[in-house]
Amino acid sequence: MKRVLITGAAGFLGSHLCDRFIKDGYHVIAMDNLITGRLKNIEHLFPLEQFEFYNNDVSKFIHVPGELDYILHFASPASPIDYLKIPIQTLKVGSLGIHNCLGLAKAKGARLIIASTSEVYGDPTVHPQTEDYWGNVNPVGPRGVYDEAKRFQEAMTMAYHNFHGLETRIVRIFNTYGPRMRLNDGRVLPAFIGQALRGEDLTVFGDGSQTRSFCYVDDLVEGIVRLLMSDYPYPVNVGNPSEITISQFAEEIIALTGTTQKVIYKDLPVDDPKQRQPDITKAREILQWEPKIDRSEGLKRTYAYFQSLSKVELLETDHYNFDKYITK
Ligand code: UDP
Repeated sequence: MKRVLITGAAGFLGSHLCDRFIKDGYHVIAMDNLITGRLKNIEHLFPLEQFEFYNNDVSKFIHVPGELDYILHFASPASPIDYLKIPIQTLKVGSLGIHNCLGLAKAKGARLIIASTSEVYGDPTVHPQTEDYWGNVNPVGPRGVYDEAKRFQEAMTMAYHNFHGLETRIVRIFNTYGPRMRLNDGRVLPAFIGQALRGEDLTVFGDGSQTRSFCYVDDLVEGIVRLLMSDYPYPVNVGNPSEITISQFAEEIIALTGTTQKVIYKDLPVDDPKQRQPDITKAREILQWEPKIDRSEGLKRTYAYFQSLSKVELLETDHYNFDKYITK
């Protein structure tokens, strides 16, 4: 049985990856320090013999006994609000964390894939974003802790590939949504759906003309697995090119949930990218991959998940102080 280590396994993407590798017959070693991840996302896997969980911080030395075939480094805070709250941990998991994973991969002869991000393109001046665009990132802005950690992570991974001949893969993940997103992680989809379910107005930041392109999590997982199994060591965008403004997105959530609440406008966060859309030519050509689940279907499935949450979970919303983060 092949053995795979997944860091950030109790998070949104990590937990879906655990499900996928269990389904594909792997022995899954799940690792998480549970800062932003939740055991609830993976508790259904605990009874399985092919599943183990390590409550570890990958930014510190990690020891995994036995052989490893693959390592997926998916540990990281991933929403602007989370990395504003824990900026140092965000930088550490992207830098010290990947160094530990690469060292482990080298010791075990494992192939490693890192979760990179469309944030390496910053507030992009090229649209749609192709992998050969170097980006427009503000290193000292509030998003810099995430963006630069991920950029460092890519550089470190390529260095291990080039210098040590390690087998590595880099997936640049664009906005992704689906069941198990944390309702209070501050990202736009859980924010809007949570507001609709609690009977609050939907908060659009800025004038809502900024765009994003949302990919359903099952499509993303398929793209990640295909890239891991491919022989391509350079970055590949994986995302859904269907682009929408945040105002239109709010209207879609209003229609989906049937809420009678309205949209209210708040200040735009610092360095919030104005537009984002993946160019997925490479993924199409190299991985024969493209997204299959359109937004109306994906949103229905995601809404069903949020509706199934208890009242307690629904009200467990931190009231973040956005003041430091907002353009004045
Ligand atoms: N956004 C919004 N209202 C919210 C949360 C987010 O209008 O309650 C906007 C945010 O300013 C950004 C977009 O939605 O323009 C996507 O934000 P998210 O945090 O989901 O991810 P990002 O793509 O910015 O990392």
